[in-house]
Amino acid sequence: MSIPTISLNSGHSIPQLGFGVFLVPADEAEQAVTDALEVGYRHIDTAAIYQNEEGVGAAIAKSGIPRDELFITTKLWIDHQAGELPHEAIRTSLDKLGLDYVDLYLSHWPAPKNDSFVNAWSKMIEIRDAGLARSIGVSNHLPEHLDALVAATGEVPAINQIELHPAFQQRDVLEWAVANGTHIESWGPLGQGKYPLFEIPAVAQAAEAHGVTPAQAVIRWHLQKGFIVFPKSSRKERMAENFDVFGFELTDAEVAAIDALDPLDLSGRVGPSPLDVN
Ligand code: NAD
Repeated sequence: MSIPTISLNSGHSIPQLGFGVFLVPADEAEQAVTDALEVGYRHIDTAAIYQNEEGVGAAIAKSGIPRDELFITTKLWIDHQAGELPHEAIRTSLDKLGLDYVDLYLSHWPAPKNDSFVNAWSKMIEIRDAGLARSIGVSNHLPEHLDALVAATGEVPAINQIELHPAFQQRDVLEWAVANGTHIESWGPLGQGKYPLFEIPAVAQAAEAHGVTPAQAVIRWHLQKGFIVFPKSSRKERMAENFDVFGFELTDAEVAAIDALDPLDLSGRVGPSPLDVN
């Protein structure tokens, strides 16, 4: 199955659907990623803080899949934003992953109280220029943080990976992205299972109309909105289900009905606010 790709401001492109490994324990990551690669995923999203980069790397090595057919993302944790620490962090991540470069390196949270996110971004530019990351971007950055990065460096993040699912759509962050040529990755695309997303009529009815599962309908919504998405499951049959989303298309009305699920008062958030993570 051929997965659509999105062109980034780096000149590289990213598969729009991938597999995320947040909360996959270190000793299960190798098997989970092996299963995902067997299902057909070629885009893997990990992070230094997930403490499973070694398992991801072991699965990549074992797979025998050519490096240029894979798209691997990892992230800089907030304890390595200051000074020259980002350079140390990327080398540690690459060692654990067993790679010479990552396709995408993201600054994980702005952590505004630490006041080092602009420094982190300037070091990530150096990391990209040194060839250790093909594209660079951020995660959980709000417009005020993004403006600060661009003002300091003139460089626009290729990606902003943010919490995004039907009940929490972050329209202000999306607007910044559209205006600046940044692409959005949706984390927690299924709401992390923290609210009964699959029972909401707009989702359940769209799924029924197309003979798919509610999870497939929601993943399809992300794809049709132009977001990059990497749902997580440790179960191979769900990995396959989540990958099988290219045989149907939601109607404009179905997309609009899911668009309307955000109460627009931030109450749909399931993770922490970027202002509180430090
Ligand atoms: P998710 O919305 O993908 O939810 C995962 C949960 O949904 C699983 O635990 C599973 O129980 C359930 N699920 C998955 N497929 C299903 C299916 N077909 N049917 C029914 N239930 C299903 O949440 P997530 O894992 O937090 O987000 C995806 C990825 O985003 C992560 O693995 C990680 O790579 C990334 N992420 C990034 C950040 C960040 O701060 N940048 C934060 C959280 C997650």
